[in-house]
Amino acid sequence: MDDVVVLCDFDGTISVKDVTDSLLERFANPEWEQLEENWQEGLISSHECMAGQYALIKADQEEVETFLDRVEIDPYFSQFVGHCKSKGFTLSIISDGFDFYIERILKNNGIESIEVFANHLEWQEGSIKTFFPHINNDCRTCGNCKTSIFHKFKKPGNKVIYVGDGWSDRCIAQQSDIIFAKGKLTKFCHENGVSYIPYLSFLDIIKETSELI
Ligand SMILES: [Mg+2]
Repeated sequence: MDDVVVLCDFDGTISVKDVTDSLLERFANPEWEQLEENWQEGLISSHECMAGQYALIKADQEEVETFLDRVEIDPYFSQFVGHCKSKGFTLSIISDGFDFYIERILKNNGIESIEVFANHLEWQEGSIKTFFPHINNDCRTCGNCKTSIFHKFKKPGNKVIYVGDGWSDRCIAQQSDIIFAKGKLTKFCHENGVSYIPYLSFLDIIKETSELI
């Protein structure tokens, strides 16, 4: 039996909306949109963009946490976690967002003990500091290089499933054995000849993977 590994994006994939965008819209000085444009035009890298944007957040930790406690996730994700457990699939989250909110939101939904590879955020003397422990210094396009993490999981004979929705998923999607895509990632896959399975919720992925083993 081949081992199956499921690697899953967080923002817009597990969470219904992109959490960083929601935090910036609610708490940041509007300059964050200029940084977003600069990133989209390729003038700055994603980690420079995120470091700059989070520095513009004007809120204390408690206000941010209260906001995070209202973030919604895909209604079938908990069921999907159980599905992976019962099938013996390894499940990890790989995100170009931040561990701070991912871990809180998962815990709020009763989901624990999933390994998370993400950027790191700390509150220091009332302001936010960002860290990028998984950056690939040969590329530096993303804060968290999902391709580097993919290689930790890819073994001869195993199958890596990737679930995602956006820009930071495009490199790993080209290497995974099975790709579930929605949103901007479907457009990327379509335009670059990458085979993918479209999905709307994790219920679709449960159905599609129930016959895999
Ligand atoms: Mg995403």
